[in-house]
Amino acid sequence: MTSTREADLLATVPDGLLIGGRWRPAAASATLTVEDPSTGETIRTIADADADDGMAALDAAAAAAADWAATPARTRGEILRRAFDLLQDRKEDFALLMTLEMGKPLAEARGEVAYGGEFLRWFSEEAVRVTGRYGPNPEGTGRMIVSQHPVGPCYLITPWNFPLAMATRKIAPALAAGCTVVIKPAALTPLTTLYLAKLLQDAGLPDGVVNVITTSSSGAVSGPIIADPRLRKLSFTGSTPVGRKLLVQAADGVLRTSMELGGNAPFVVFEDADLDQAITGALAAKFRNIGQACTAANRFIVHSSVADEFARRVTAAVNDFVIGRGTESGATIGPLVDGNAVAKAEALVKDAVARGAELTTGGSRVDRPGTFFEPTVLTGVAPGSDILREEIFGPVLAITTFDTEDEAVALANSTEYGLVSYVYTESLSRGQRMIERLETGMMGLNVGVVSNAAAPFGGWKMSGLGREGGTEGIHEYLQTKYTLTPA
Ligand code: NAP
Repeated sequence: MTSTREADLLATVPDGLLIGGRWRPAAASATLTVEDPSTGETIRTIADADADDGMAALDAAAAAAADWAATPARTRGEILRRAFDLLQDRKEDFALLMTLEMGKPLAEARGEVAYGGEFLRWFSEEAVRVTGRYGPNPEGTGRMIVSQHPVGPCYLITPWNFPLAMATRKIAPALAAGCTVVIKPAALTPLTTLYLAKLLQDAGLPDGVVNVITTSSSGAVSGPIIADPRLRKLSFTGSTPVGRKLLVQAADGVLRTSMELGGNAPFVVFEDADLDQAITGALAAKFRNIGQACTAANRFIVHSSVADEFARRVTAAVNDFVIGRGTESGATIGPLVDGNAVAKAEALVKDAVARGAELTTGGSRVDRPGTFFEPTVLTGVAPGSDILREEIFGPVLAITTFDTEDEAVALANSTEYGLVSYVYTESLSRGQRMIERLETGMMGLNVGVVSNAAAPFGGWKMSGLGREGGTEGIHEYLQTKYTLTPA
């Protein structure tokens, strides 16, 4: 049951599509429902866009593109800064909304508001730092000018697991660079994006710069947008299989793309690690967002001399977790996003146990309304188990062991993914060797959470292309021009 406070908040979330600055129903009047995963109850009914609505959103982004590109960078930055300030005023509303549609505990949702907000602030500052180069050519016969230009209208597709941060991580650099956008959030968690779009309007964003479409037919709506020659950039965060499909579609138009895809992060604990630190890091890297993060530690690779103690201590900590609706005080483990996620966690645990792993705690779905799965620890996970190959996306901590550094590196790198790795060692030289040897775009060295708006977030191998955040993030939305003039 939603409380009065929750119902009041939900009633203020727009239920239409935002196209050209106007909120409107879907052209065919279709609607989709959004559920609270902790109860299974419908919490809001919103517009369900079709391909015509998608095209109308692209029309609006294309129509607004030239004016926005010509808007001074300072003005663009100040709108983003106002959005950051408004987000601070509304942080409790955003946190509650995310907990309601996605399920994460309120304390974590507040953390996401802080993290997601930083992209608005960071790129409000980066907007004015886009510069070029000027200088003589080596022959002395000409002057070379290198300038940066907004790439043009962008299509942004975001996943359900971080409804605010995945949106601001794309919208803020695009707007700072001078690009207009159409954004499509996941159908499971569209409310936060709708609420954010309203905030951006309140911050003074001109009509048509950000357009929002919500839909239950993401493929049918996205295909024509991606095929349209007016679109100049596709930025996607989601699973590797969908990312691959979109890359094929984008190839036809030789479209610029950024792909933030799946992960299978190794968490390596050497025999010389500070175990207190490693356990704190492990709990954060595994159970944050109920295990549903692309950066979640997926494979715990622990030196055999400390594996028993590591397993005993993480099991004790996990036994103290409190399962509950994210709004309940003290709840640390909320529901998984839907029934498919529960079925997947269950199947992965079953396969690991069938191959000889031992359950030290958890392992089952929870008998209550909603889609809850027990926080789980598995030891002695055998090579070849599905859980070592697939993204778990649930609260299951799987431990394997190693004896030599080379073995640890080989195990850590034995995946098609390369998003992030975690390494715990007190040895500086070993830490440096790991920076060089592990095939991931990011690394936590004695740290369990690495994300920061000031850092370039992104993966190697099949975890993606491009970077979000940092000084790199804005360049995803800029294109370079070189001009030669006579000396
Ligand atoms: P997903 O199924 O790939 O969906 C991601 C987004 O793509 C959603 O908006 C989805 O909309 C949309 N989509 C699905 N099929 C599409 C199609 N054919 N055409 C256009 N859009 C389509 O992933 P998810 O389950 O939402 O998110 C979890 C995945 O995201 C995990 O693999 C995780 O690792 C990854 N992720 C990566 C990062 C990163 O930065 N590397 C960050 C967060 C999450 P609908 O759901 O409404 O169909």
